[in-house]
Amino acid sequence: MAQPDQDRYAHSTRGAPRSLDIIRELVKIDTTSRRSNLALIDCVSRYLASHGVAWRLSHDDEGAKANLFATIGDAKRPGIVLSGHTDVVPVDGQAWSVDPWAATVQEDRLVGRGAADMKSFLGIVLAALPDMLALPLAMPIHLAFSYDEEVGCIGVGRMIRDMQAMGVAPGICIVGEPTGMKVVTGHKGKLAMRAHVHGREAHSALAPYAVNALDYAAEIVVELRRMQRELASEGPFNREYDPPYSTLHAGVLRAGTALNIVPRDATLDFEFRTVPQDDPHRLLARLKTYCETELVPTMTAIAPESAIEFETKSDNPGLHTEESASVVERIERLARNGRGGKVAFASEAGQFQRAGFEAVICGPGSIGDAHKPDEFITFEQIEMGEAFIARVIDEAREGANSRHATR
Ligand SMILES: [Zn+2]
Repeated sequence: MAQPDQDRYAHSTRGAPRSLDIIRELVKIDTTSRRSNLALIDCVSRYLASHGVAWRLSHDDEGAKANLFATIGDAKRPGIVLSGHTDVVPVDGQAWSVDPWAATVQEDRLVGRGAADMKSFLGIVLAALPDMLALPLAMPIHLAFSYDEEVGCIGVGRMIRDMQAMGVAPGICIVGEPTGMKVVTGHKGKLAMRAHVHGREAHSALAPYAVNALDYAAEIVVELRRMQRELASEGPFNREYDPPYSTLHAGVLRAGTALNIVPRDATLDFEFRTVPQDDPHRLLARLKTYCETELVPTMTAIAPESAIEFETKSDNPGLHTEESASVVERIERLARNGRGGKVAFASEAGQFQRAGFEAVICGPGSIGDAHKPDEFITFEQIEMGEAFIARVIDEAREGANSRHATR
């Protein structure tokens, strides 16, 4: 990974942020979630090695992807986790005006996939590594870079289990998703499920003697809608969220091959997004009870082999940090751009919170510019992120009792 080179962007009207070269190097590596992220992990590993910092990897089952975890300071003391994901969403079908992987500098902004979400945060943290190493830290700083966040926050769980196995003391976790440097304290939890409906196929002229899996999947959709109406009218409610109640949603139904065949199999993808007062597993249990009592008996009466099975696609807890929590005031003081309340997008922060960390989301860039063609981040946001991380490092040096950041 290159060292910062200010002169190459001298044409820019305001000069380049010091972390720009490292951010560009990360953006140039295509880490779309369906691909391996190991090229990026190798790049970061070499950079850490060049500064004498050790790291650990935790791989997925195939060994094609990895989380990277590194600690600067004494990991047995409560510290500050700087958390970010390495993967990005696809560019397929999007109308980009530049190469999404070229990390193009346009005036005072960087354009490329992941520029906002969230390789700038990763690059800012890496560029600050020499500062973290310059003086002893009273609180350790942990770098926690995950895989497969964009497909359901799947990778980070292994890293957290690895951290726990190593005896890393829980402390503060800052997830650097793009919030425009505002401190975000919550998002809903999301449980993503797939129902496999198995019936019996037949010629459609004999439909009453068969079990139409498509029909029964549709019954599940109808029940989800019934549950949604009840949640919207009866709660539980939390006005900090929009919508202020838990939501249910069916996104994909696959069934059938031809009109004159009764479908034997159907799969239905659906999700629950819950407010803090609600539990997605309570909602799932209710749906399962409905299937077992109302649907399966009528299916098996015709075809005993019929069944409805449920597969968990992802289970990401919500983030629910009280606005009055001391960590919120503390990070707001370091980020210096106010609070962002609760947000609609999911993040890894809920998993860190579940593991005992005081977690917030705060990072440069706008989520409104993410996942789109010509995704970008402004130099101003990158520089605000750099100043934030510099103050975090000061805070870590001075230790847990500090209330006086010097920068
Ligand atoms: Zn993200």
